Amino acid sequence: MNILVTGGAGFIGSHLVSHLLSCGYDVAVIDCFHPYYSIERKRKQFQTLTNGHHVRLYEIDLLEEEKVAQIFQAYKPNVVYHLAALPGVPNSLLQPLAYVDYDIKATINVLKAAGNVGAEHVLFASSSSVYGDLGEKPLKEEMATGRVVSPYAAAKYGAESFCHAYAQLFGYQLTIFRYFTVYGPWGRPDMAISRFIQQLLRNEAITVYGNAARDYTYVDDIVKGMILALQRNGSSDIFNLGAGRPITMEQLLNYLRNEFPNMKVNGAPSRLGDVKATWADITKAQQAFGYEPTVTFEEGLARTIAWAKTHESLGKEGNR
Ligand code: NAD
Repeated sequence: MNILVTGGAGFIGSHLVSHLLSCGYDVAVIDCFHPYYSIERKRKQFQTLTNGHHVRLYEIDLLEEEKVAQIFQAYKPNVVYHLAALPGVPNSLLQPLAYVDYDIKATINVLKAAGNVGAEHVLFASSSSVYGDLGEKPLKEEMATGRVVSPYAAAKYGAESFCHAYAQLFGYQLTIFRYFTVYGPWGRPDMAISRFIQQLLRNEAITVYGNAARDYTYVDDIVKGMILALQRNGSSDIFNLGAGRPITMEQLLNYLRNEFPNMKVNGAPSRLGDVKATWADITKAQQAFGYEPTVTFEEGLARTIAWAKTHESLGKEGNR
């Protein structure tokens, strides 16, 4: 089976590629090493996580439609994991049009190219942000109505619609994953857990925006779920991939305080576009392909802190 991973040099993508390679799959990656965060850091994570394995790397921008089509023609993937995107809610308020390009236009190029080479299965990385700021919890897949609260979420919701349209047009199987705040080693430096740990390792005060609760999900659990979904029977569908429980900001700070007892916290108002709380109902993924998150938050955070301690130099790179 030939598997193509877009965004395969990013945080979740490079973990996914690493797991796919150790399962023995033939894997190719498209990534443009977008400077949203440090390119050097991205190269390091990709090299480290694919160490010793053969993987084809196509360094192109998915907005270049002809090049995308050529690569798909050359590699002829059976399966396409499409993770490449511009992430980050706060940045999407500053550069909304970039999200139309990187999260929607690039997705259309991938969906068309996959269909044109007869790919059988396209798996798309969407986000819990598509639920908007719903009060009702836990969040079930059918609760997303498009009433989103950030340009990032609007782009993801739009991209999901294009996924449905092209799956119908080409007849491939479509799996949409809605991830819930993924963390772990090599975690994206703009995200709260990575940012806090790096600042604490430098003995700096951390800035906490608002009091949001998040269904933080350890990266290995997400990746295992994404690979289990390859065996899924059935038509196109959407699945939450979360841990299935919310962690409040107070709980997160208490866990961090155990490791960093002198921690100083500056409170700041919540940021525009951020939702108050996320909490995934994961029943559908459990039933459809045996998704089962196993890493507790305490354990996942301990592993992330241990990793950060041995990679402190990365903390200076690429924070937003
Ligand atoms: P990331 O920024 O680390 O990875 C994205 C990768 O895509 C980067 O390596 C980037 O260079 C590449 N890329 C972006 N645009 C590209 C283009 N036009 N052509 C080629 N490559 C391109 O982000 P991540 O956290 O690993 O997220 C992966 C996916 O999961 C994204 O679609 C993101 O929106 C989604 N997601 C992530 C989270 C999370 O908690 N990390 C939560 C929900 C959804």
